[in-house]
Amino acid sequence: MIRTSSENVYDVVVVGGGAAGVGVAVTLIHAGIENFAVLERHTVGASFASWPAETRFITPSYTTNSIGMLDINSIAMGTSPAYSLEVEHPTGQDYARYLRGVAHFFEVPVRQNTDVLQIAQAGEGFRIDTADEPVHAKHVIWAGGEFQYPRISGFAGSHLCRHTATIPSYDELDGEDFIIVGGYESGVDAAYHLAYGDKRVKLFDTNCPWESESSDPSVALSPFTLERMHERPFVEQVELIPNTTIECVTLADATYEVTTQDGQRYQTSVPPLLAGGFEGSHKLVADLFEQREDGSLLLSEDDESTIVPGMFLCGPAVRHNNHVFCFIFKFRQRFAVVAKAIATSLGLPAEELEEYRKWGMYLDDLSCCGQQCAC
Ligand SMILES: Cc1cc2nc3c(=O)[nH]c(=O)nc-3n(C[C@H](O)[C@H](O)[C@H](O)COP(=O)(O)OP(=O)(O)OC[C@H]3O[C@@H](n4cnc5c(N)ncnc54)[C@H](O)[C@@H]3O)c2cc1C
Repeated sequence: MIRTSSENVYDVVVVGGGAAGVGVAVTLIHAGIENFAVLERHTVGASFASWPAETRFITPSYTTNSIGMLDINSIAMGTSPAYSLEVEHPTGQDYARYLRGVAHFFEVPVRQNTDVLQIAQAGEGFRIDTADEPVHAKHVIWAGGEFQYPRISGFAGSHLCRHTATIPSYDELDGEDFIIVGGYESGVDAAYHLAYGDKRVKLFDTNCPWESESSDPSVALSPFTLERMHERPFVEQVELIPNTTIECVTLADATYEVTTQDGQRYQTSVPPLLAGGFEGSHKLVADLFEQREDGSLLLSEDDESTIVPGMFLCGPAVRHNNHVFCFIFKFRQRFAVVAKAIATSLGLPAEELEEYRKWGMYLDDLSCCGQQCAC
C-alpha cells in the first residue's frame, strides 16, 4: 500500500529496501509518519538474496527479545530472525525472507523495481528521479547499502578478478587452485567454503587480520569465523599469506598471474577472487553532503547532511568521529535518531520512540563501537 498526500509529495522517501531501509521505515511508522514510501531497485532484501548461497551471518541470532535484549540481527522491535527463521546464523536468503516478513507485517509502503537514478533539491524538498517518473519528497533517507557497489579497483589488472559479491555459490566454481585477495570476513568465508569443496586456496592480505588482538568486531574477525578456521579442511587446504600487497594481475594463455609488491608470482587457471570490500552506494548522493577526510559523508548528530537539510543517511556508511556502524546491530541504533529528527521537523511528537532507548536502539551518545571496519 502506498500512502501519498493530496499534493503527491511524500513527507519522506527512503531509498533502498534492505536491512537499513526496512528498519528505518518501521521506525518512521512508530514515529507516526504515514505519508512515505520506500523505493527499492529490485525486491526487499535483494542484496541478502544475492549473497553466495553458502554464506551465513557471522553474528548469531538468538531468541533474547523476551528478556529485553533485542536479537542482535533484528531490525525492528518485537521481531527476531532467530525466532521466525529458526536458525542461529541465517544465510542471505534466510535473512531476505525475514526482511520481507517484517515489511509485510508492518505494512511498509515499498515500491519495488524502482531504481533511483538521481536526487536533487527542488523547492523546499527533493526531486527523486527514477527510471520511471520523478518522485517528490520533503525528506530523503539514503539507505542504498554497499553490497551492490563492490570495490573492484585497487591494483593493475583487478578487472580480471572476480568480486565475491558476484558469486552465486562457491560450490559451482570450477578449478582446483584459488587465489583470494583480502583476508577479512568475506575472504576467509570464501576460503572456508572452497576448502570444503576440496579446493586449494592461497589467501592474501596486506595485513595479518587473523591475528588481531582487538575485541571490536569491526576490527577483528568474528568468533564464528575464527572457529571455522580451525576446522580440518581449512587447515589443510588454505595457505594464509599475510603482510603481502598485490601489485598486479595479468592473463596470458588462460593463466592468471598474480604478482606481489615484493616480486613473488603465483599462477592459477581461475580468475582470482577479490574480497576487498565495497565502494558503497553513498557515492551517488555525495554532492548533497560535505565529505570527511576519509571520504565518507559528514553528518550532523541526527545523521542529516550538514549542507542540505532534509537529506539523511542510514546504514553501514554512517560514520561519527571514529565510530563505524557497519553491522546491523550498530546501524539499527540510528534508526530512531533519524525518525525522531524527521518527525520533529513534521511537527509530530514521536513519543513512541522513547521505547527504543529501553531496547538499546536509540543511541545518541555515539559511544558504541570501534574505529575501523573489517566487514
Ligand atoms: C557477505 C556479507 C556478510 C555479512 N555478515 C553480516 C553479519 O553477520 N552481521 C551483520 O550485522 N552484518 C553483516 N554484513 C553487513 C550487512 O549485511 C550490511 O551492512 C547490510 O546489508 C547493510 O544493509 P543495507 O540495507 O544498508 O544494504 P543492502 O542490504 O544492500 O540494501 C540496500 C538496498 O537498496 C537497494 N538499492 C541500492 N541502490 C538503489 C537505488 N539507486 N535505487 C533504489 N534502490 C537501491 C538495493 O537493491 C538493496 O535492496 C555482511 C555483509 C556481507 C556482504
